[in-house]
Amino acid sequence: MITELNIDLTVEKICEGFVYNEYEGKGLFGLAGKLVIQPEYQRNYIYADGKKDVAVIQSLLKGYPIGLIYFTKIGENKFEILDGQQRITSIGRFLTGKFPIVDENGMQQYFRGLAENLQRKILDTKLTIYECSGTESEIKEWFRTINIAGVPLNEQELMNAIFSGPFVTLAKAEFSNSQNANIQKWSAYISGDVKRQDFLRTALMWVSRGNIDDYMGRHRYDTNITELKTYFNSVIDWISSVFIDVKPQMRGLNWGELYEKYHTNAYDPNEVHEKVTALYTDFAVNNHKGIFEYILGGCVDTKLLEIRIFDDRIKQIVYERQTEHAIKNHVSNCPLCALGNDNNQQRIYKLKEMDADHVTAWSKGGATDINNCTMLCATHNRSKGNK
Ligand SMILES: [Zn+2]
Repeated sequence: MITELNIDLTVEKICEGFVYNEYEGKGLFGLAGKLVIQPEYQRNYIYADGKKDVAVIQSLLKGYPIGLIYFTKIGENKFEILDGQQRITSIGRFLTGKFPIVDENGMQQYFRGLAENLQRKILDTKLTIYECSGTESEIKEWFRTINIAGVPLNEQELMNAIFSGPFVTLAKAEFSNSQNANIQKWSAYISGDVKRQDFLRTALMWVSRGNIDDYMGRHRYDTNITELKTYFNSVIDWISSVFIDVKPQMRGLNWGELYEKYHTNAYDPNEVHEKVTALYTDFAVNNHKGIFEYILGGCVDTKLLEIRIFDDRIKQIVYERQTEHAIKNHVSNCPLCALGNDNNQQRIYKLKEMDADHVTAWSKGGATDINNCTMLCATHNRSKGNK
């Protein structure tokens, strides 16, 4: 790969003909159309928070460097931004009046409102630009390694870069587009940030059963995302048809896996709703996130619910009661060991070697109170398991 340093380009030149598409958050141009500011492997614009974008402008006004910018040469006199998209987009948006900065008197100032000399100062700033030419793979490899400044790319953003092509472009238009009207509905079940590719990542995770890079590699040159979209919609439709309730604890569950495991079972949504309500109001249920899988699995695996355990005071009292009785009768203080006929039959365990268990399981209506508590040795407590 060949790298050439260019220190003659001014902000004014680079932002000539700057286009920002608010709707898509992409497809921006500069250098009078010769520069693609947001090629497909770049992430969406995320500096528009009134802090990072303003900081870029303040740096220009104070004459501070804003760091190295990398272009790749994609043709005769044609460039793409490899690194620096966020900074240049911030500058372009400021010059076109998209956001103000606050001046030393605390007044909001848009570019047009700045004093002439300050406008000039920004426009005449020369940026430090490396122009790189090389093969696609060289450039992408390099893009990975320079990804150090600013907000680091996350894993999915890197994958979008590595597997850039028609498939990623279409997939981003669907799953990384904050203007997509479905995002609201999807957010009930998916957590994270659309712009940081969290929804795309989830969709890919589901359809690929967790093998995202393999899937992206195989579909890289596809000109449609039908399978990805269909699978994703099937999962979403399935969740909303089984669960009438939309609970905050549903967000971010591995619905793809749950779908694979349970979507061939039949559920009565009203019955499911009643179970959800009952479990949400059951004091003994500690883990509300586990409720959905617990119900899907036929209300068997109580481990998912992390049923409330006995507190230390109750354990202490029950331990002492059992131990006193055991010593008197020359048997183990673990009632299950006492029933056996091996070496442990008369063993007296220390408190820390035992754990509390429900006599009548929670799932059979047993409460978490002292009358329903028994202390078992660690081995028996584990093997009993069913709380
Ligand atoms: Zn035991």
